[in-house]
Amino acid sequence: MGFSSALQGRAAHEALIVRQDAELRLMETMKRSIQLKAKCDREYAIGLAAVAQQGMKTDRADEMQGSLITKAWRSYMDELDHQAKQFKSNAELLEVVCEKLTHLSQDKRKARKAYQEEHAKIAARLNHLTDEVVRKKAEYQKHLEGYKALRTRFEEHYIKSGRGGRKLDDVRDKYQKACRKLHLTHNEYVLSITEAVEVEKDFRTVLLPGLLEHQQSVQESFILLWKNILQETSQHGDLTSDKFKEIQKRIDNVINSINPSEEYREFTEKHKTSPTTPLVFQFDDALIEDIPGKLQSNTLTVDNLTVDWLRTRLIDLEMSVKECQEKQLKMIEHANGGSPIANGSIARNGSTASNGIQSPKDSQNRQSKDLNALRCQEKQKQKLVDMIKCALNEIGCEELPSGCDDHLEQNFIENSFNNDQQMSLSTNRPLYEEEWFHGVLPREEVVRLLNNDGDFLVRETIRNEESQIVLSVCWNGHKHFIVQTTVDGHFRFEGPPFPSIQELIMHQYQSELPVTVKSGAILRRAICRERWELSNDDVVLLEKIGRGNFGDVYKAKLKSTKQDVAVKTCRMTLPDEQKRKFLQEGRILKQYDHPNIVKLIGICVQKQPIMIVMELVPGGSLLNYLRKNSNSLTTRQQMGMCRDAAAGMRYLESKNCIHRDLAARNCLVDFENSVKISDFGMSREEEEYIVSDGMKQIPVKWTAPEALNFGKYTSLCDVWSYGILMWEIFSKGDTPYSGMSNSRARERIDAGYRMPTPENTPPEMYRLMLKCWCAEAEARPHFDEIYNVVDALIIRLDNSH
Ligand code: ADP
Repeated sequence: MGFSSALQGRAAHEALIVRQDAELRLMETMKRSIQLKAKCDREYAIGLAAVAQQGMKTDRADEMQGSLITKAWRSYMDELDHQAKQFKSNAELLEVVCEKLTHLSQDKRKARKAYQEEHAKIAARLNHLTDEVVRKKAEYQKHLEGYKALRTRFEEHYIKSGRGGRKLDDVRDKYQKACRKLHLTHNEYVLSITEAVEVEKDFRTVLLPGLLEHQQSVQESFILLWKNILQETSQHGDLTSDKFKEIQKRIDNVINSINPSEEYREFTEKHKTSPTTPLVFQFDDALIEDIPGKLQSNTLTVDNLTVDWLRTRLIDLEMSVKECQEKQLKMIEHANGGSPIANGSIARNGSTASNGIQSPKDSQNRQSKDLNALRCQEKQKQKLVDMIKCALNEIGCEELPSGCDDHLEQNFIENSFNNDQQMSLSTNRPLYEEEWFHGVLPREEVVRLLNNDGDFLVRETIRNEESQIVLSVCWNGHKHFIVQTTVDGHFRFEGPPFPSIQELIMHQYQSELPVTVKSGAILRRAICRERWELSNDDVVLLEKIGRGNFGDVYKAKLKSTKQDVAVKTCRMTLPDEQKRKFLQEGRILKQYDHPNIVKLIGICVQKQPIMIVMELVPGGSLLNYLRKNSNSLTTRQQMGMCRDAAAGMRYLESKNCIHRDLAARNCLVDFENSVKISDFGMSREEEEYIVSDGMKQIPVKWTAPEALNFGKYTSLCDVWSYGILMWEIFSKGDTPYSGMSNSRARERIDAGYRMPTPENTPPEMYRLMLKCWCAEAEARPHFDEIYNVVDALIIRLDNSH
């Protein structure tokens, strides 16, 4: 059924027009899509070319020579580049296709127009005739009615007037005219109908079918062209086309030619070497040349600093060893499908798990490799375990040696031991009353007391909150033995037990038997407590007068002399390291005797809390004093304070002591405003002291630039601080650089800023302050000079009154 027979109706004609419009729209859509596709292909080609180029950037160095995988990769990249070119040419061809589609669309538009015009033309003639027939019919009817009326009139006149008369002639004439008109109209009507019948027949049977047939063939020929265009479009995007297939085949071939066992042939040929010589790891003895005794080549150091660490390490290592063993066992079980085998080898089981990449053989290789790695790990760790265990066992009942370098510290207590002294012993009195019992005196202090082989003393140590009694002996260095307690409460070392520690010590002393066989240490001379070592019970704390870094400060009374004293306490909870630092002040102070340096009376280390007993300086801290008495202070008094401080500092400088924390808060005020230097917690007895352990808690605003910047301390740094102290005295307790943060003050000082003179400061004193703040340490005056300047000024002032 073709267009000519099926699409004659009006609706069909309209549908055909609509259809052609839709086809034109489809063509437009296709055109746009093909353009886009061409664009995509072009972009893809660019991207692909970039990929290939990137992929080509492989190492061209010799290392990969002969590598099949490199060759395959390069070929693959080459082919990708081919693909890119192919895509580019496809894009170009698609653009040509697109042009064709444009032409087709234009032609189709024309054909549609021609059809519409032709159809209209043939339809117009038929329509015209149809109208003509209607019009003729209407005319016919009109004339028929006129004729009928005139005929009736004529018949009436004829009957009425007979056959003659003028009137009758007139009526007859009209009647005849009407008759003629009717007949003419009749004929015209007949002719028009006949023509219309002919035209209609031709329209229906010849013209319209002809037009439709022609239109069908036109449209079908368009479809053929259209189809061709689509075929071309599809061919230009066909990735399965021979061109692409060839590329893919070449890629496949070169990849298939990779042969793992061939891959490294050329490489191994080229780099063939003889087996490596083992690396030798050796302890460098030069490292410990300057460290006598404590650290030994290839030997673990077990002392109070390391024992806890060693024990923790041991536990960790033992756990690692266990883990290694468990992992090995699991692996073996897994390889054997759940049952470990005695010799520990992995069964050759083809069904072992494979990750899909590796073959069962690979998997077996991997497992035995992992197993070997675990065995090595276990062996390595076990070796460390054995080493640590051995080192810890060696210690036995000896107390751990001190890890600190005794010789670096100052002698704290002069050895006041009397060689002829006989050991007094009474089993009745408590241990702490024994002269040779030194309480919780830190070990560093103890070793200073024991100078000759056979020197010994007994002390107490707190380890893990448990008190232990320790016998310290000088014997080829210093040995420390913990007194062992038996189940029935007796005391012993390696020999027989005794009911009291005193008896045990007496036994060792009198029998002259070594304390332990390994140490060979024999007790020859008991070292007794000396005057600095007070008993905690020797002082009665009265009232709290201050708070220091380590603990509270009390006013107290010495039981023996009823003297008022100040007692600094050290919080029991502080770590040993801090307690040692606390005692540092006592160690420094005990050597000094000067009216402007606070005096040490003793230390109480017999039990906790450890305490430092000092002379009581009743005015308390200088800073508070300045602030409290700011209204009543005279310039003369202020200058006197400066002179006192200079006198104290001159004395310290002569003793090579660097205070490092000179400030009003660390000076004390005695009767009559006299000032004493105190708080030696940061002091060092050296000409120059370089800080290496960080600069925590540095009093920045009091500290000289070279100390802040390079950690270099000398007495000239104390001079800088002294300048700040003078400023504090004359500003009556103001805060230096007030309103500036530490870092801001530091910045400004480095940039040359110096504080202005406080109100009412004698100009000479301000000049002295500025000298103390010379950026160049060497340009600052020494305390001797400072003292002289201040003293001269005071004398001048006194004389002027
Ligand atoms: P720390 O060195 O622990 O910081 P300080 O030496 O600064 O402790 O002492 C804290 C406070 O205790 C001081 O500000 C002062 O008020 C008071 N103080 C310290 N020593 C004495 C003393 N010998 N006489 C009187 N008061 C003292």
